Amino acid sequence: MNLDLTAQDVEFRNEVRAFLDKNLTPDLAAAGRLATSVFIEPEFTLPWQRILHARGWVAPHWPKEYGGTGWDEMQRYIFASECARAGAPGLSPMGLGMVGPCIIGYGTPEQKAHYLPRILSGEDYWCQGYSEPGSGSDLASLQLKAESDSDDYVLNGTKIWTTHAHHANKMFCLVRTDPAAKPQMGITFLLLDMKTPGIKVDPIITLAGEHELNQVFFDDVRVPKSGRLGAENDGWSVAKYLLEFERGGGSSAGLEAVLARLQKHVHSDSNSDMALVRRIGELSMRLEAIKTTEQRILSDLTSGQPPGPAGSMLKIQRTELMQAIDEAGVSSLGAHAAPYQPDAWQPGANAPILGPEALVTGMARYLNNRAGSIYGGSNEVQRNIMAKAVLGL
Ligand SMILES: Cc1cc2nc3c(=O)[nH]c(=O)nc-3n(C[C@H](O)[C@H](O)[C@H](O)COP(=O)(O)OP(=O)(O)OC[C@H]3O[C@@H](n4cnc5c(N)ncnc54)[C@H](O)[C@@H]3O)c2cc1C
Repeated sequence: MNLDLTAQDVEFRNEVRAFLDKNLTPDLAAAGRLATSVFIEPEFTLPWQRILHARGWVAPHWPKEYGGTGWDEMQRYIFASECARAGAPGLSPMGLGMVGPCIIGYGTPEQKAHYLPRILSGEDYWCQGYSEPGSGSDLASLQLKAESDSDDYVLNGTKIWTTHAHHANKMFCLVRTDPAAKPQMGITFLLLDMKTPGIKVDPIITLAGEHELNQVFFDDVRVPKSGRLGAENDGWSVAKYLLEFERGGGSSAGLEAVLARLQKHVHSDSNSDMALVRRIGELSMRLEAIKTTEQRILSDLTSGQPPGPAGSMLKIQRTELMQAIDEAGVSSLGAHAAPYQPDAWQPGANAPILGPEALVTGMARYLNNRAGSIYGGSNEVQRNIMAKAVLGL
């Protein structure tokens, strides 16, 4: 396949660059560059989301009729890559990348009309209630109980590792509606309001010292049945559909931008360790292989379709490359990376090759991104999925 830019692609890239020059304020760009996680605080992402929404560019992967851009895969890559290069803060994937496409696939006309515009505008900020203390890889064993009571379900139980639940006003959630059925058969997919009485959100602070994760408790929480996505007890089909977007959606454009910054600084320092220079060269080749695979898989899909089990392959490749880039980044900082005390660094004194920004983000990114091979379903489990669903073993 041809990865060269056509004249139209170059014209499109120039249009995106001009838009970014005009609209990406220094504050927003700094928030993007200083990000240590896929999840950036909504105080930065939501203003950027509103700017993109006003331009009609907030949901490149959605079908045009629901607010997508109608771009082809190359244009989507150019857009993602230019945004990452300029340091635009990545938007939360929960609404636009995960539940939005699922509502497009499974929602009633009323649900589509209600939720989709609010996801595009950022009015609704979503979190994902899948995992429970006893159910992660073995997700079908989940226990959060939902009992039918006239027009409502009444929820009791808990969800854990719920990213940004403390910011979200909505949750998409898997609940057990039939405890007697086989595990996969008794699950229902609900859309609920985080302000509903009986919901309590407790913080979990990560190794990097950040508050991203939470445990959410449900005590007699009433959720209207109009919030059910798909049929009762068929939530497993909806859940798997969503996971394909979670694992295979997005692109490696963000990794490309981080690697390019690392490469530039390592190459510009005459004292750079040759082993590190070689390692970065190898990482660039891995990135090119992933980009080609993304183009090959995603260009076959019509906008709005899930990538299927190939999403598991992309998830493994991207997260393992992300962790390798972070390791190289931390190596390049040497002793400066070890104690996480960016305030101690004085400009001009022993300036590490990556500059002060890397001191703030290097170790925190490294620690935070260790979770990349766990979240979204661990990489071991993705290998099992590929063995079964792709290789037929
Ligand atoms: C940073 C972060 C953010 C997260 N955000 C969310 C969120 O927003 N919402 C949400 O619902 N969940 C979230 N999760 C939870 C995540 O989906 C689970 O952690 C993940 O699915 C693994 O489940 P577990 O932690 O229970 O580990 P376990 O399932 O207990 O697995 C432990 C280890 O055993 C391995 N293992 C398990 N089963 C197999 C098998 N069959 N074959 C081979 N190896 C196996 C796993 O790979 C892993 O290494 C998040 C997790 C992290 C770390």
